[in-house]
Amino acid sequence: MANYDYDLLVIGAGSGGVRAARLTAQLGKRVAVIEGSDLGGTCVNVGCVPKKLLVYASAFAEGFTDSRGFGFSPGQIPFDWQTLITNKNDEINRLNDIYERILENAGVQIIQGWAKFISPHEIQVGDQTLSAERILIAVGGKPFVPEFPGSDLAITSNEAFYLEDLPKRVVIVGGGYIAVEFAGIFNGLDSQVTQLYRGDLFLRGFDHELREKLAENMKSRNIDLRFNTDVRSIEKSADGLVITTQDDQTIVADLVMYATGRIANTQSLALDQAGVNVGKRGEIPVDLYSKTNVDHIFAVGDVTNRMNLTPVAIAESIALVKTLYEDNPTAMQYGNIPSTVFSQPNLGTVGLTEEQARDAHDNIEVYRSSFRPMRNILAGRDEKVFMKLIVDADSRKVIGTHMLGPDAGEIIQGIAIAMQAGATKEHFDATIGIHPTTAEEFVTMRTAG
Ligand code: NDP
Repeated sequence: MANYDYDLLVIGAGSGGVRAARLTAQLGKRVAVIEGSDLGGTCVNVGCVPKKLLVYASAFAEGFTDSRGFGFSPGQIPFDWQTLITNKNDEINRLNDIYERILENAGVQIIQGWAKFISPHEIQVGDQTLSAERILIAVGGKPFVPEFPGSDLAITSNEAFYLEDLPKRVVIVGGGYIAVEFAGIFNGLDSQVTQLYRGDLFLRGFDHELREKLAENMKSRNIDLRFNTDVRSIEKSADGLVITTQDDQTIVADLVMYATGRIANTQSLALDQAGVNVGKRGEIPVDLYSKTNVDHIFAVGDVTNRMNLTPVAIAESIALVKTLYEDNPTAMQYGNIPSTVFSQPNLGTVGLTEEQARDAHDNIEVYRSSFRPMRNILAGRDEKVFMKLIVDADSRKVIGTHMLGPDAGEIIQGIAIAMQAGATKEHFDATIGIHPTTAEEFVTMRTAG
């Protein structure tokens, strides 16, 4: 057998790469991880973590306003963007250090630099050449901005996390998770927000009714939401950036942020040197066991463009380590993966949408509930919570759960466990509620319709 430097070389120290490296090293294998940027990848540095911190920040204003109904008289409360960004950066540095310790304690060697293949078993990093029996590609993705006149004047979420000042007028382009979340962040922090989406209704792929209701909520929170609109050009003017749309509207803003999807980070890997196939958008196709078309090269996480969520990348890595090093071939299961758009309010979801359920099942029951949560009554806020359970009428299993409302992410996580265990509607009905909560509504819905 060839004499390799490592049993496993991991390219990319994001959520997926770090987990695979650590678990493999803990099994006594020789492992190195190569990373050219900060440890932790997108999620820790320019994704889930800083995003959630900004979401928290943006929710305070709503709390101050609502507190009046509970007897408080808050005055003008100043907000300092620089303090928020500094504190956020400190927290990310803390997490970067934790990742370093986790890897070192597990015996993983960290190699700083950008990797490229020079042969199927060899990687070059700077002037070093490293060889490995197996290689895992976990390099993630990066924001994609279409090209049009003035597209270089737009920023992406990567830069949004490091803005020096809070912009007064923001235009956000896109209708996915990132666009919707940032519209809520800037709006909550009192920027004037316009969101442009090219289709009829944003958040394609989510339950239609929830998409409609979230759009209504965002509009009632003063976000200028414009559908069937796309940008033709961006120009600089004395008053700021002038955005002209395909249908000749103009909007003047201080910042234009594009959140129009992400592409795999494979351009500089020289994958052809290893014979690894890539798809149209640079993604690496893999089989159920995360294996590429080359037998000893694997890929997990966003670079494979399967389901681009941190916990999924981690689960793919856990399955891969079982397959490769624990004599336990394990295919990742993609059913019932919960997720939440951290919009205001949150949109949490697990399982099938009503549209998908109607396509896949002959008989379904749909339970809905819409009500003003207790807190909103004294707060004088009209916004309602909306909850939806979809049941396969033949097996009685709950096959989809959706919620638009405060803390939907926290609530849907628990429901996902029940669905993973195969809970039926009768199990939900037999569960006692916690009163008074919003979540109890999930166990008290009795009439389908
Ligand atoms: P998404 O793929 O979710 O959405 C991209 C959006 O941009 C869609 O609305 C799409 O429209 C639109 N779009 C794509 N191309 C163009 C174009 N050329 N011109 C105009 N609009 C365009 O991407 P995001 O960037 O929002 O997020 C990337 C991924 O990151 C997500 O899919 C998700 O997996 C993950 N993520 C998860 C989060 C969470 O769990 N809370 C948070 C943030 C990100 P259309 O629908 O018409 O194609």
